[in-house]
Amino acid sequence: MLKREGNKTVLRIKGLPRIEVKTSRELPPNGLLRAIRITRKALRTEVALSYEIDDVPAAEQITNPVGIDMGITKRLTLSDGETVEKRVIDRSKIIRLQRSVSRKKKGSNNWKKAVLLLAREWQRISDKERDYLHRLSAEIVKMYDFIVVEKLRTKNMVRNSKLARSIHEQNWGKLITLLNEKAESAGVRVVEVDPRGTSQECSGCGATVKKSLSVRTHRCECGVVMDRDVNAAINILHRGISIAGGKLGLESRMAGRMRVKRAEVGPVRPGTV
Ligand SMILES: [Zn+2]
Repeated sequence: MLKREGNKTVLRIKGLPRIEVKTSRELPPNGLLRAIRITRKALRTEVALSYEIDDVPAAEQITNPVGIDMGITKRLTLSDGETVEKRVIDRSKIIRLQRSVSRKKKGSNNWKKAVLLLAREWQRISDKERDYLHRLSAEIVKMYDFIVVEKLRTKNMVRNSKLARSIHEQNWGKLITLLNEKAESAGVRVVEVDPRGTSQECSGCGATVKKSLSVRTHRCECGVVMDRDVNAAINILHRGISIAGGKLGLESRMAGRMRVKRAEVGPVRPGTV
């Protein structure tokens, strides 16, 4: 079985050579061990140990959760007050190239050349955008270990004819996909929640505080005054915790933590990503 020998962990199984196990974390007691899978690889032997554990080990407990609010026309706002500004895409070159295409005789060689240049520019912009979303999602996964985002309402995307909005929502969808991909390999949880009502709800007391889009500050009778989007992001985080956090023993602890944190939310800083 598994034994400590000095600072080494050694696996001894009858009929097999002794295997030295390299592990980065403390192993649970042998009594909880349920299965051992040994795979011989070209350069090393992999040992997979399965334990029966009721509680989440301390190392996997959540210490830095975040809720993310997606502004319709603007930026991302995080529940800790961090913001990521919406990127302005410079379309002047696209417009120039489009004009160039329309000036040329359709089907001519010059027209074909202009079409190619236009296609290249579109490609360049979308590559840049994809690259940015990769960096942004990597940064978020690095900073937080429990990430709650708004569920993308695909119905709205179809119904809404405004191009700017649909592009923004497409990017949001891509960002969620990338967050999920990167989070999975990093052992970070991503939870998607229904964002309905998150901007009207008070993150402190749960009361409904109606406000139009132009009202940028959330003010509640309970004394909570904060940036409208930060309030929404905290509500998003709370929803994620109530869906998934209970299982992780997070609920009450987190609610208390958020209350402390909220007081610390100062003026919203410009994006750091
Ligand atoms: Zn309130």
